[in-house]
Amino acid sequence: MCSPEVVIIGAGAAGIAAARHLKSLRVQPLVLEASAHIGGRAVSDNSSFGQPFDRGAHWFHSPAENPLRELADQMQFEYARTPLAEDYCRASAPLSAAEALSCAEAVERGFDRIAERGARGLDVAAESAIERDARWANVLAAEFTAKQGVSPAQGSSLDYSRYVWRDADLPVTGGYGNLISRLAQGLPIELATPVTAIDWRAANGVTVQTARGPISARAVIVTASTGVLASGVIRFSPALPFATEAAIHALPMGHSNKFALSFTQPVFGDLPPSLWFPVDAPCAPLELLLRPAGAELAVGIFSGEFGRELAAAGAATMREVLLEQLAGLFGHELKRAAAASVAVNWDAEPWVRGYVAAAQPGAADARQRLAEPVGERLFFAGEATSRCYMGDVHGAWLSGIAAAEAAAAQCGLIQS
Ligand SMILES: Cc1cc2nc3c(=O)[nH]c(=O)nc-3n(C[C@H](O)[C@H](O)[C@H](O)COP(=O)(O)OP(=O)(O)OC[C@H]3O[C@@H](n4cnc5c(N)ncnc54)[C@H](O)[C@@H]3O)c2cc1C
Repeated sequence: MCSPEVVIIGAGAAGIAAARHLKSLRVQPLVLEASAHIGGRAVSDNSSFGQPFDRGAHWFHSPAENPLRELADQMQFEYARTPLAEDYCRASAPLSAAEALSCAEAVERGFDRIAERGARGLDVAAESAIERDARWANVLAAEFTAKQGVSPAQGSSLDYSRYVWRDADLPVTGGYGNLISRLAQGLPIELATPVTAIDWRAANGVTVQTARGPISARAVIVTASTGVLASGVIRFSPALPFATEAAIHALPMGHSNKFALSFTQPVFGDLPPSLWFPVDAPCAPLELLLRPAGAELAVGIFSGEFGRELAAAGAATMREVLLEQLAGLFGHELKRAAAASVAVNWDAEPWVRGYVAAAQPGAADARQRLAEPVGERLFFAGEATSRCYMGDVHGAWLSGIAAAEAAAAQCGLIQS
């Protein structure tokens, strides 16, 4: 292992961005990653299907201002230039054009109402902006849950209003995880090296404990999710200040899990790559990614409590729910063509423990508090600390750069 000036905990988007930025400042980083892979929640499975399947992040959000989209352009990395066809459907068919428009408009108005509350400084449950008796209210609640991972009753209106989500999402067809891995090439990264303790007031800086022994550095950047931080698997010495600890607990993880299923023969006709949102009452937060990149593949994305419970019930249950939904839409014969599948349960990933951090009502400012340096040597980064791109890969990326900049400056590591 090289002798680092800054230790980075986690080789997800935030950790990779921090390491790249430190290198560009000629500061020596070392990334310690608990799992056996690079990318954290941006990880592609390249072997199960004939194309990359993103177990976690898949879309460039806000592509026009997304630094990862710019890097993809520079590297000529493959991503779709046009968004997916989006539609609402019932159990057996897409909604009529008129109904779909009415639904989309109602959902948009609902999101605007939530954002307006936040813009007025109201840090309350997003639920308070939903007119429960209104037509399509269930769809609004389900879409909120699909995005945030928690129900509107558990999500903050102020936090939501700060989120920047411009233009249509673009699928990273080459695999968002593959992109992050490419960007990590050449960086000093130790995989399968969980950090169990951090002494952030050590004599000459910080000392982190790993199964391979202690590692000392001038500063440490922690990018583990709030789910991991709240679990206590990393012991801080001295204990974290109350404000930091409270911020971690005010940003619990939401839930979003996936089940991908391929078919041995064409079952979707000439459907273009699409994202469908079933709206049948009671309208669970379920999205259907159909024929991504034109392949005979369907991905069910199950969010919130519904997604947590379904994934906990196991792969067979996830498969059944997805197959039933698809059979209603495309005919029961497709069941006979079902082939390889992959179930992803992020709640059960010990080094992640959920989807993304959701600010509780009243706690929108917890993100900034978590992003503040602790003492002079301990820095937090990651999607949970992003104020306007929270929950996004590029939010994590930018937070890693900010933490690296702060660590290098605060510890006097920047060479003139
Ligand atoms: C199902 C799903 C779909 C998503 N879809 C999108 C999308 O389409 N677009 C988008 O922009 N975002 C999406 N996201 C969110 C996006 O994946 C995350 O916001 C982003 O990847 C988080 O990056 P991070 O670096 O903050 O954290 P992570 O990716 O969690 O990285 C932290 C790393 O720290 C490691 N670690 C934890 N504890 C320790 C320890 N003690 N020692 C050493 N290492 C440790 C972990 O193993 C992990 O690799 C999705 C997420 C999920 C789960």
